[in-house]
Parts: sequence; structure tokens; C-alpha cells
Amino acid sequence: MNSRLICPYCNTFNIKPYGFDRHKIKRRYRCTCCMKTFQNCYDAVGSKPGIELEIMKLINDGKTYLIISSILGVSSKKIARAVRNNRALKDKD
Ligand SMILES: [Zn+2]
Repeated sequence: MNSRLICPYCNTFNIKPYGFDRHKIKRRYRCTCCMKTFQNCYDAVGSKPGIELEIMKLINDGKTYLIISSILGVSSKKIARAVRNNRALKDKD
């Protein structure tokens, strides 16, 4: 089950973690071969556990759907659903 990261530029496996993107959400990686950096893109982000929490965190930060969708790589439909689910939870309290 080891997902191996591959450099999208030179197709080697010489990948090292390289901090996070400027939103401090997505992991960045650097290829030690061509020294280019890129984001981890093999995850099916939309189905990741906790993605709704991340969406809500950004909503609370005042980010728009468009920005959130570009940060997290999820559809605006998914964001709308997360917001709706979150409101439903709040209504229960
Ligand atoms: Zn490379």
C-alpha cells in the first residue's frame, strides 16, 4: 500500500518532503534530481477524512468557494455540502 511519489517533471522517485504550500495545507515535495518542487497530487482529496473540517476552517477564515476549491482541489459542490452538513450539526446543539 505504499504510494510512491514520482516527480512529474523527470519521472524519478528521488522525492523529498519540502514543507507546505503557502496556505500551510498541502504538502510540498521536491525532486532531488531536477530540484523542482510540486504538490502531492495522488490523493483523492475530496474523499479524504477530515476534508470537511479543512473546508470549514477556510470558510471561517473568510475564503471564497473559488479559493477553497483551488487550495484543496475539491469541487464547489463538495464545499457547499460541507457547509450544509456543518450547519445541520450546529442546529442540533
Ligand atoms: Zn525531477
